Amino acid sequence: MKRILITGAAGFLGSHLCDRFIKEGFFVIGMDNFITGDFKNIKHLENHPCFEFIEYDVTEYITIQNNLDYILHFASPASPIDYLKIPIQTLKVGSLGTHNLLGLAKAKKARLLIASTSEVYGDPLVHPQTEDYYGNVNTIGPRGVYDEAKRFQESITMAYHRFHGLETRIARIFNTYGPRMRLNDGRVIPAFIGQALRGEDLTVFGDGLQTRSFCYVDDQVEAIYRLLLSDYVNPVNIGNPDEITIKDFAEEIINLTQANQKIIYKALPIDDPLQRQPDISLAKELLNWSPKVNRKEGMQKTFNYFKNFSQEELFKSDH
Ligand code: NAD
Ligand code: UDP
Repeated sequence: MKRILITGAAGFLGSHLCDRFIKEGFFVIGMDNFITGDFKNIKHLENHPCFEFIEYDVTEYITIQNNLDYILHFASPASPIDYLKIPIQTLKVGSLGTHNLLGLAKAKKARLLIASTSEVYGDPLVHPQTEDYYGNVNTIGPRGVYDEAKRFQESITMAYHRFHGLETRIARIFNTYGPRMRLNDGRVIPAFIGQALRGEDLTVFGDGLQTRSFCYVDDQVEAIYRLLLSDYVNPVNIGNPDEITIKDFAEEIINLTQANQKIIYKALPIDDPLQRQPDISLAKELLNWSPKVNRKEGMQKTFNYFKNFSQEELFKSDH
C-alpha cells in the first residue's frame, strides 16, 4: 500500500484530498495544526484503517515513522483575510514548512507536490495567465506575505529537484470552492453565501468589475491526483477558465439563494488583482484533464452544504 503525507489535511482542499487518496487505496497520514482548518473536515476519517492524523506545525522539524511514497504540501492560510491576520505564519509555512517537507521527501525518497497559487502572478498584466508569465507581485504589500511565500516555495522546490534530483510537482491552483470552506474565511464564495443565509446585504469590494474564475473542488482534486502521478516537473495551472466579474457573481448568488438582499459596495483591498483567468492548455494536454463541473452545478452543491448550517454556526464568529 502506498503511503502519502498530506499537510493542511484539516483544511478545505486537504480534507478532500485525504478522501480521494483513501478512495484510491493509499494509506493517508494527515497533518495539520488547525490554524485555519477544522477537525470536523476529517472527523469522518477518524477511525478509518487507512488514515492517521498528526496534529503538528509543519514549520517545526518533521519526523515520520516508516516509509513515505508521496507528500502533498497543502498547509498554508489561503484566504486574504487569514494571511493578513497571520502574516508571519503564512511566510513561515511557505518557506520553512516547505523546506522541512523537502528535507523529509529527500530522506524518504518520496515525491513531493506543492500547492502553489495563481497569486504568484500577482495583479497580472498578461491575461489569461500562462505558466511562462513571471507575474506582477508587490513584494512589500500586505498580500506579499502569501504571494512571496508561494514564489519562494516554487523556487526552493525547483532547487531541490535540480540539486538533489528530488521528484517534485508544482500545482498553480486558481480560485477553488466547494463544501468544507470555512464560512467566515473571508473568501468571496463563503462570504456571499453566509451573507445571503444571514439576511445581510452582499458586500462587493471596489466596483465589482474585477474578475475571478472559479473551479469546483472535485475538478481540482482530479487534476492534483493526475499531476502527482504524471512525470511533469514545471508548474501547471489548475483551475476553471470560466471568468466572471465579482458584481455579476454576486447577482448569481442572489438568484441562487433566492435572497432579498441587495449589493453594497466597500473599498477594494490593497493589491486585489483586477483580473484572473487560468490558461489551462498545459493541464489539458499533459493530464488529459479539463473541468467538468460548471459554476451553476458547483455553486448549487456548495450552497446545499452551507444551507444546512444551524443559526448558531451561521452567526458564530471565527477563530
Ligand atoms: P484552508 O485554510 O482551508 O486549509 C489550509 C490548512 O493548512 C488548514 O487546515 C490549516 O490549519 C493548515 N495549516 C496552515 N499552516 C499550517 C502549519 N504551519 N502547520 C500545519 N498545518 C497548517 O485552505 P485551502 O483553501 O484548503 O488551501 C490549501 C492549500 O491550497 C494552501 O496551500 C493554499 O495556498 C492552496 N491554494 C488554495 C486555493 C483555493 O482556492 N482554495 C487557491 C490557490 C492555492
Ligand atoms: N470580494 C468581494 N466581497 C467579499 C469578499 C471578496 O467583493 O465579501 C472580492 C475580492 O475583493 C476579490 C474577489 O472577491 O476581488 C475574490 O476574493 P477572494 O478573497 O475569494 O480571493 P482572491 O481571489 O482575491 O484571493
